[in-house]
Amino acid sequence: MADNGNQTERVLRDRKGRVARKLRISVTDRCNFSCLFCMPEKDKISWIAQEQILGFDEIEKIVRVLASLGIEKVRITGGEPLLRRDLEELVQQIVSTDGIHSVDMTTNGWHLERKALPLRKAGLRGVTVSLHSLRSDRFAKISGVDALPRVLRGIEKALDVGLNPVKVNSVAIRGYNDDEILDLIEYARERRISIRFIEFMPLDGLGMWNYDRVVPGKEIIDAVSRRYALEPHGRGTSETSSIWRFKDGRGDLGLITPMSEPFCDDCDRIRLTADGKLLSCLFDTEYHDLRHIVRNGGSEEDLADAILKSVWKKPDGVGYMPWIKEGWAKPRNMNAIGG
Ligand code: SAM
Repeated sequence: MADNGNQTERVLRDRKGRVARKLRISVTDRCNFSCLFCMPEKDKISWIAQEQILGFDEIEKIVRVLASLGIEKVRITGGEPLLRRDLEELVQQIVSTDGIHSVDMTTNGWHLERKALPLRKAGLRGVTVSLHSLRSDRFAKISGVDALPRVLRGIEKALDVGLNPVKVNSVAIRGYNDDEILDLIEYARERRISIRFIEFMPLDGLGMWNYDRVVPGKEIIDAVSRRYALEPHGRGTSETSSIWRFKDGRGDLGLITPMSEPFCDDCDRIRLTADGKLLSCLFDTEYHDLRHIVRNGGSEEDLADAILKSVWKKPDGVGYMPWIKEGWAKPRNMNAIGG
């Protein structure tokens, strides 16, 4: 029996009583962009070796066990998930897993124009596209690729084929794009899509993070409410974003504030990395290896035991780790965790 507080119930409960219901699966650590708040310098990247990356059947097996333990929602991410060939096959497999209610994806949008329809047909529900600037030169500077028109076409295509919800994520970084917050909001409002601003977290590969570069959610709300009438809708239980609706009914705005107002106490997310490690917190330093179990003939029961045990040890969260803000020896950058 796993060391999970001698629980007899088969749910993913941790020491603090939080129950995991959502899973983020990173299907690759590779990315064709090199966003400066995420990836290391090109010549310092060491990709996970191909043979260490989980196959679709291995991911599916782990998802099946996780679903039997209460996981209901899946988000596919990376790296850039759409670099993984035939990803729609994995989507279809996960969508048809008993207990899974929805499968969404976070992408940089590069392959979205071509992939939106097959993904929709495979059962993908919604897509969140990262968009950190609407100025081509700046987009290229932040993401390392001159791709703005292509990403915008991907967003239009996602809307056309009926992926729902289509959302936009922006990491606001002081001195880089914080003067574009209102433009990004206007872009989203025109299309009536939701926009989320994420506070910059110390998970970047360049080591450029410091608290002065974080644009706190409160500052964004102050700036936005000078132009628009907003209504606070709060943060739903276990959600990452605090939601503000525009009073004229044109879309909404979400703030994800792990740095200034962490929301760890009701966190219900766990992560599976591309090389098969289970992480129960973005800031966890303990990586629980599920690939070893899958590849060495372990049964679903063995997997369930290991998963229950590792989720039980979920850290309290970044809100309880003040040293993180002082600079910490992070085990992996965001691209290899799966944001
Ligand atoms: N390649 C995809 C993309 O660009 O959306 C998915 C992976 S990316 C790691 C997932 C999300 O994490 C993106 O919205 C990205 O902007 C965000 N992200 C990456 N590094 C971050 C950091 N240091 N702080 C906050 N958010 C970050």
